[in-house]
Amino acid sequence: MTAQLISGKELSQEKRVEMKSDVEELKRKGITPGLAVIIVGHDPASQTYVRGKQRACEEVGIHSLLIELEEDTKEEELLAKIDELNVDEAIDGILVQLPLPSQINEQAVIEKISPAKDVDGFHPINIGRMMTGQVCFLPCTPHGIVEMVKSQQIELEGKHVVVVGRSNIVGKPVGQLFLNENATVTYCHSRTNDLKQYTTQADILIAAAGKQHLIRGEHIKAGATVIDVGIHRLDNGKLTGDVNFDEAREKAAYITPVPGGVGPMTITMLLHNTILSAKRSRL
Ligand code: NDP
Repeated sequence: MTAQLISGKELSQEKRVEMKSDVEELKRKGITPGLAVIIVGHDPASQTYVRGKQRACEEVGIHSLLIELEEDTKEEELLAKIDELNVDEAIDGILVQLPLPSQINEQAVIEKISPAKDVDGFHPINIGRMMTGQVCFLPCTPHGIVEMVKSQQIELEGKHVVVVGRSNIVGKPVGQLFLNENATVTYCHSRTNDLKQYTTQADILIAAAGKQHLIRGEHIKAGATVIDVGIHRLDNGKLTGDVNFDEAREKAAYITPVPGGVGPMTITMLLHNTILSAKRSRL
């Protein structure tokens, strides 16, 4: 069996075409959705991600405001900037690129962002609302993953989803979203004994461990759907994931590539949340 690719790039393109006309419609009503992106310091990977987010905003017509702060920025300065943006009527979404330098408490920053502009979906209020199935901003990477699986008409109800990773931004919320879809969810993490015992039972396997090629062919049940969240840059400059793609594609029925998989969908769901925020507060 050779798995069918689930292209996040193609699905993103389709969704962005729809978003572009949505934004045009809003603009006709005098509303231009706005996203503020704050980056602290000069981490090259973060700069690449931020550039990607800005390009995507331009593509669909969202106004993007980039705020670049120095590496030694004090926490109070960053919190004050967020306060300004929280009341800025031209800004519908605020995103602070993580990770932050060590002098800044990440959680304090996340909690400073108004839940109504928290387009990353990291604020405890949005997380709590997601867990209790209420209206909220869904976190972008997990939301993008569910959209990718749904795009293939793969049934979720009653399926066994195994998530490898339990971070607050990917692992935990993606499991919750699949639970909301009536799947049965198992979480694995660095203290899990015998990872393979769990992964080989997965109908849908989400690899979000941040460990290059952790998931090999032997970890995958024949016919499973494999979603590779990991991003790793190889010495030759190319990107690869948490899944050994060549082995996995021989076992899985569906697989996401790296690059061109979860990455573009994460950005697409950020655009989605920004437009949603503009509609919620300004229509
Ligand atoms: P974190 O480092 O915050 O979390 C990694 C998780 O994986 C932890 O829960 C950890 O367990 C678990 N883990 C680590 N090693 C193993 C192992 N050997 N076996 C089982 N579990 C393990 O990473 P993130 O969740 O932030 O990101 C994960 C990956 O996804 C990274 O490569 C990141 O670059 C990528 N990423 C991609 C995005 C995209 O848009 N495509 C967006 C966000 C992230 P424990 O809790 O016990 O430490």
